[in-house]
Amino acid sequence: MSKTLRLILGDQLNSKHSWFTKTDSSVTYLMMEVRQETDYVRHHIQKVVAFFLAMRTFADQLKKEGHQVLYFNLNDPENKQDFDKQISLLVEKENYTRFEYQHPDEYRLDQQLKNLGQALSIETQAVDSEHFLTSREFLKDFFKGKKTYLMETFYREMRKKYDILMEGKEPLTGQWNYDHDNRQALKDKKLLKKPLIHPKNVQEIVQMIEKSGVRTMGKLDEVNFPWPVSREESLELLDHFCEKLLPNFGAYQDALTTWDPYLFHSRLSFSMNSKLVSPLEVVKKVEEYWQDHQNQISIAQVEGFIRQIIGWREYMRGIYWAKMPEFAEMNFFDHDRKLPEWFWTGKTKMNCLKESIGQSLDLAYAHHIQRLMVTGNFALLAGIHPDEVDQWYLGIYIDAIEWVEITNTRGMSQFADGGIVGTKPYVSSANYIKKQGNYCDHCAYDSKEKVGEKACPFNSLYWHFYARNREKLEKNPRIGMMYRTWDKMGNKQEILDQAEAYLANIEDL
Ligand SMILES: Cc1cc2nc3c(=O)[nH]c(=O)nc-3n(C[C@H](O)[C@H](O)[C@H](O)COP(=O)(O)OP(=O)(O)OC[C@H]3O[C@@H](n4cnc5c(N)ncnc54)[C@H](O)[C@@H]3O)c2cc1C
Ligand code: SF4
Repeated sequence: MSKTLRLILGDQLNSKHSWFTKTDSSVTYLMMEVRQETDYVRHHIQKVVAFFLAMRTFADQLKKEGHQVLYFNLNDPENKQDFDKQISLLVEKENYTRFEYQHPDEYRLDQQLKNLGQALSIETQAVDSEHFLTSREFLKDFFKGKKTYLMETFYREMRKKYDILMEGKEPLTGQWNYDHDNRQALKDKKLLKKPLIHPKNVQEIVQMIEKSGVRTMGKLDEVNFPWPVSREESLELLDHFCEKLLPNFGAYQDALTTWDPYLFHSRLSFSMNSKLVSPLEVVKKVEEYWQDHQNQISIAQVEGFIRQIIGWREYMRGIYWAKMPEFAEMNFFDHDRKLPEWFWTGKTKMNCLKESIGQSLDLAYAHHIQRLMVTGNFALLAGIHPDEVDQWYLGIYIDAIEWVEITNTRGMSQFADGGIVGTKPYVSSANYIKKQGNYCDHCAYDSKEKVGEKACPFNSLYWHFYARNREKLEKNPRIGMMYRTWDKMGNKQEILDQAEAYLANIEDL
């Protein structure tokens, strides 16, 4: 008699997958909470809770629909804590005749399951996860023969392919990109909306994680865990986004402020990355909502949001599969410094970092510009080793899964790939941070000063970064201007000395 074992990983909670269209008594679905996954990096406690809770909810739902599910809690005595061991044992003991899994999104797991498939004595098949808009290889093939990958070219192709914000072959309203309208600082507190949370008591699951000895970081409110962990909750969050946040999403997507951690961001990344909802249904819903509310919502807001999902998100996935495993080793600037201890506590005098890190530890969340232009910017200017930076980002955020974390961190934020993801490093002095909001108003440092006791570290470190990497960056046509400005500056040595002094005392900044 044929017996199939199908593995569902923690980020494969796609109830619309064709696997689930009918029940089949010869199929058993296997889901496991394993130390292999809790321990490969030190995760935020909210991230571990969110994944386990979402997995349990998903398993319950499958059971209700009549599917057979074998679920191992982390503290189950039968749990081998490792996919290879558990699956090999099950196949042997329960006489399965076939093993199936969905393509994992992580290179590490992809290799592991491929090897496992070869080692098992039964037939093994890997199927698509039916989540993304493109296949793993699409981007690589799309840019075949081209020297550089360009997000904008890829994004336009996605718009055309899926007929999103299009009028025939042309972009709706004749414009592809509204980025220049979307860079405002938030001046009016009254525009802010209360976030939609889905409060849950998670005491039991937290106790289990702690008792098992899993090392985590960050805080959580055990009786009001706020993240959506089911498809229903995720769809509610999407509705909330459309009604309350979309009207201002684009305009303030780059704003930095102490007023609110979420601003007009959707908080949908966990729901999408765990596949509770699909990127296409999110963008279709947003487009549809905008079509019906054009008098209240400008196209710039909608285009800004859609670009993040069918552009950046999908593009990052393509880069990941085109460039792994080499990508994970890249260190273009040969940076080698350790991440300061205050990245784990938020205890720094630099207010922008204190706010962004503090919020990340409290909520397992920071929005894109906090990640890119505050924490990432500092790490790059200070010359932190990309491995250190990756470990931090991979652990701390609720949505951190390697395919989208590493491409954003090592690629976009640290330019450790030498220009695969972006055409130039995203670095700035205090000027940008000040322009985008109110962090500098409450800081021990002076955003206008480059040298002196109170000078903002970003200012001298910014020029130090350019000066020390001149050979690697000067020929970049988008950067040449910076060196002409630097060469004309009068107090170069003073600025470099200031930066050196800050780097020597990085733990005390
Ligand atoms: C250094 C760094 C590390 C990051 N690490 C991660 C990560 O581990 N996981 C992750 O999902 N995102 C990551 N991002 C991208 C982005 O910051 C988050 O997706 C976003 O902040 C999630 O919050 P949100 O759902 O409220 O996003 P919104 O601002 O509401 O955006 C909507 C959606 O667009 C997608 N998106 C936006 N920007 C990007 C991007 N650059 N790459 C991929 N998708 C994007 C996300 O799915 C997001 O949910 C990182 C960015 C940087 C600069
Ligand atoms: S002054 Fe400098 S360190 Fe302080 S908040 Fe502004 S940019 Fe950050």
